[in-house]
Amino acid sequence: MKLSIRKKNQVPTHLSTPKTKETIEALWRLQKIVLNTLDFSQVVHQIVNGLLNELGYLNLGYRIIVLTLADEEKKVLKRIALSSTKEAQRALKASAIPFEEIEIPLSSNNNLLIKTYKNKRPYITHEWPNIFTPVLTPEQAINNQQAAGIKTSLTYPVIVNDKSIGVLIFSLVKAESEVSEEEKELIRGFTDIVGLAVQNAQLYSSVEDNRKNLRLANTRLKQLDKLKDEFVSFASHELRTPLTVIKSYLSLLREEREGVLNEKQRLYVQRAYDATNRLNRLVTEMLDVSRIESGRLILNPKDVNIEVVVQNIVNEMQPKAQEQNVTLSVKSEVSESDILYIDEERISEVLVNLIGNALKYNHENGSVQIEIKRVDKDVIISVIDSGIGIKKSDLGKLFQKFGVVGGDYAHKNNIPSTGLGLYLSKTIIDRHSGKIWAESKGEGKGSTFSFSLPLENKKIV
Ligand code: ADP
Repeated sequence: MKLSIRKKNQVPTHLSTPKTKETIEALWRLQKIVLNTLDFSQVVHQIVNGLLNELGYLNLGYRIIVLTLADEEKKVLKRIALSSTKEAQRALKASAIPFEEIEIPLSSNNNLLIKTYKNKRPYITHEWPNIFTPVLTPEQAINNQQAAGIKTSLTYPVIVNDKSIGVLIFSLVKAESEVSEEEKELIRGFTDIVGLAVQNAQLYSSVEDNRKNLRLANTRLKQLDKLKDEFVSFASHELRTPLTVIKSYLSLLREEREGVLNEKQRLYVQRAYDATNRLNRLVTEMLDVSRIESGRLILNPKDVNIEVVVQNIVNEMQPKAQEQNVTLSVKSEVSESDILYIDEERISEVLVNLIGNALKYNHENGSVQIEIKRVDKDVIISVIDSGIGIKKSDLGKLFQKFGVVGGDYAHKNNIPSTGLGLYLSKTIIDRHSGKIWAESKGEGKGSTFSFSLPLENKKIV
């Protein structure tokens, strides 16, 4: 970036001293590049080149500017940026150690840069060994200095919020006696701006680094998530075949005539059969979850009379209700013209799940009633049970994945429980643009699970 447009008549001919107006202008221009650049490495290079430009403009004999910053973890002062001038190039070429590898330990108390950094005040030197010790030998340092043709170096602390963060080295082709007070004032002004600029740039690059790391972590998470989905999908699929075989053999054994198996064996077979059923259900639900999460759950909607669907499911589940001595009934207030555009199989799954839960979490001689109502442009189906109820504080957790809230009850009563059923039901209802919710007056006071489906739903995603 070009720092200033120089008009011929503005360039002072000799080693003139900066005037206040020129100084202010120079500072102003420097501040502008610093504020417009956020990237750290760009800022530091622009700082050293910009400073030199300004000082060159003032024709004061400045040839090399170096920015060093303290690395507090490594406890060293590091060379960060070097102005791009031919004198700097010559010094680089002559140097026994590459520029970016010159790190002065903060403990080197006889190094002038460390003194500048620690004492927070400027120094001046005519001998580069003072600023290179202990990294370069005195001979090597003098060799660099002679190659660059530098007579004097000024070292200034870079201070932010009263704390030293580094040192700027200004190297000149003129003697110390030629450095005026105004010049020193100008350099002090520059170093203040540099402090602010470095701080801004450091803040910016740490935000950038964090952002980059977050982006990387996010991509990695997505990849892992995909792998997990693929694994779950593969594993559940592969598990189903052997499970079906085990279940059919256990079923055959269960139906054996009396006398073939003794009482104990019969009990064991029954337990193995129940466990296989549970495992089968878990595998099916996991497969559904993985389908949903990877976007592979495709709905096949058609016009459906919901009353018929509910009645069919209730008929299927009646034997189970009777087994538990629970009355299962339907009360419908919808008319035949209330046709829903839905995936019948998936909505049936929701009904099986809700009615199944209402039976599972119920007592002997309890009841389960299904109500179908029309409210405005929705059909609302409620499954009302007289069962164990749900604590107010648990209501919000029910529809989460693995949202088992009545774990104790399920465990004590040997009830198969995965915490996936309501999560799956919610996903299916969401995909139908409907809503699902639960109400309960508290433990022991029964629960009502309801879902709504819009009548005018032609766009199922
Ligand atoms: P699962 O029944 O397999 O545990 P669900 O997702 O179907 O999984 O249900 C989540 C939890 O919600 C259950 O573990 C249970 O604690 C609670 N729950 C669901 N339905 C009822 C109900 N009708 N009465 C009381 N608690 C219920």
